[in-house]
Amino acid sequence: STAGVDDSAVIATNDDAASCKRFAVQQGYWKDPYIQHLVRPGERKAPEINRGYYARTQGVRQLLDQFLRLTRCECQVVSLGAGFETTYWRLKDEGLLPRGYFEVDFPAVTSRKCHYIRSRPPLSKPLTEGGGQLQIEGGTLHCSQYHILSGDLRNTEELDASLTTSGIDKSLPTLFMTECVLVYLTPEQSSKLVRWAADNFPTAMFVNYEQVNMKDKFGQVMIENLKTRHCHLAGVDLCADAESQKQRFLSVGWEGAELLDMWTVYHSLPQQDVQRIERLEFLDEVELLQQLLQHYCITWAWKDPRGLGLASLGF
Ligand code: SAM
Repeated sequence: STAGVDDSAVIATNDDAASCKRFAVQQGYWKDPYIQHLVRPGERKAPEINRGYYARTQGVRQLLDQFLRLTRCECQVVSLGAGFETTYWRLKDEGLLPRGYFEVDFPAVTSRKCHYIRSRPPLSKPLTEGGGQLQIEGGTLHCSQYHILSGDLRNTEELDASLTTSGIDKSLPTLFMTECVLVYLTPEQSSKLVRWAADNFPTAMFVNYEQVNMKDKFGQVMIENLKTRHCHLAGVDLCADAESQKQRFLSVGWEGAELLDMWTVYHSLPQQDVQRIERLEFLDEVELLQQLLQHYCITWAWKDPRGLGLASLGF
């Protein structure tokens, strides 16, 4: 399916995320030698934004790596709305590759990613190192266990078909990730997606990072404002929203769900590294960072009929 006119703004959010990540990497917040080959250097970002991206990437990373270690990499990862994420390369460098790593995004995004991979050896070489054959066709890539697929997350039938064609094994423990993605779907669409994952993958985990408590009440515009100007929203019921974040999973077949706001996640990350990044740039208003991070959260949900211990993962 082709993205409509309205989707172009959503597609552009990937460029924003990628350039913020590149900037934070350049400032030394975390290491990622690959992102520079996917996005041009953007303009300078405020220290709060960099710390926010640090919490986001490291928070998602904690859960992902815990899942990979618990399953001893006998598992699959599916990143929905993956954009220009470079996680596959990191996992390869760290010897943590799962049996299958799948990414899905709109064709307009995946075709650009595939083009960069094809034309930039620092991206393509690691993929073919073990003798893997790089197969790229438009916005689709297959290379040993790495698959980039183009599709629309609102169409779960098509999503299921393209993952199946790419060799996904529904019986393996599978981690789904949506990093700043579900907010672009309607509640019905995201619920359908989350239900599809629960219905089709008996042993699974879902890690979702997104803005809390603006979605229904204030809409997209407020989210953008918050990101750029940190406007404080008074009178928003955080607890009710947190509960609805969990219910979104529990009501469609997930066995358990937890969530933490990003201010809490930030303080639950390895503190030595947090202290290191806090010395990188001076931050004069800590309350601003707190407000910003409290408006985002990570929710994780699990289904674990075989008792692998997925319920024990977290911060
Ligand atoms: N997950 C990446 C990250 O955190 O760096 C990208 C996040 S970006 C804010 C949102 C991504 O979701 C975009 O790449 C966008 O194209 C994708 N997306 C949103 N709605 C989608 C849909 N219906 N189908 C496929 N991709 C979608």
